[in-house]
Amino acid sequence: MSGSTLKAVTVVTAVLIGLLASAYALGRGLVPQRHPTATGVTTSANAPHYADQPPDTARPSPDAAASAPAVTGDGDGPYGAHVTTGSSRVALTFDDGPDPRWTPQVLALLSQYGVKATFCVVGENAESYPDLVRSIAAEGHTLCNHSWKHDVNLGRRTPETIRADLTRTNDAILAAAPGARIAYYRQPGGAWTGPVASTCAELGLTPLHWSVDPSDWRAPGAATVAARIRAQIAPGAIVLMHDAGGDRSGTVAALQQLLPELLARYELEPLPTRAP
Ligand SMILES: [Zn+2]
Repeated sequence: MSGSTLKAVTVVTAVLIGLLASAYALGRGLVPQRHPTATGVTTSANAPHYADQPPDTARPSPDAAASAPAVTGDGDGPYGAHVTTGSSRVALTFDDGPDPRWTPQVLALLSQYGVKATFCVVGENAESYPDLVRSIAAEGHTLCNHSWKHDVNLGRRTPETIRADLTRTNDAILAAAPGARIAYYRQPGGAWTGPVASTCAELGLTPLHWSVDPSDWRAPGAATVAARIRAQIAPGAIVLMHDAGGDRSGTVAALQQLLPELLARYELEPLPTRAP
């Protein structure tokens, strides 16, 4: 092999190695972050009572993990929770209510634009405001169980405690809106565990997560909530918002801005309450 041939081979080899490294890096960069991570803020005494931040210890205890049957939902989020609608349609979801101040405002806006959504209600609030639960159901929105009192550590408790909590919440929803179908459960804080997923399967509840989180529970203002939703939304998105748990004027104002925009770009749906 002559000197020039050797040099050419060396150059070609170097170029090939460079290309492979670039392709690898690109591939790594293209791997989507499938599970939206909850924002890492710990609870303080001054924080709103209900906020979907993760618990101080988001991990299930080793005991809970070891005793958990390998049951998950059929979605592609944590523990098989659903993070997308499974179609190009977009679902708006409202958590932590019902609330006598904010839920009626959200319902009025949805009605004004002819949009159906999903409400993940907290059991003790359903018990306190049954008329609002009844309105949610009567207006054609989907109901979702969001635990009895928004215990972000519920997934680390015993299977019996988890089952009793979810059942009590379902009962409160049904007492308010007899005959309503409760097809979903959303774990407070998104802190899913194996035992929670198992209990959902046992009770026939589809575990519901989200793909768009504007962190509206932190009340960053309507413009920020709207901008974050615009930036994150895509076909199939499940959007997390809150109609309770603090000052939700920013969420309501953001919804007012966004509804006409979203309707121009997407079909909005309440999550289906029956298997297709
Ligand atoms: Zn919540």
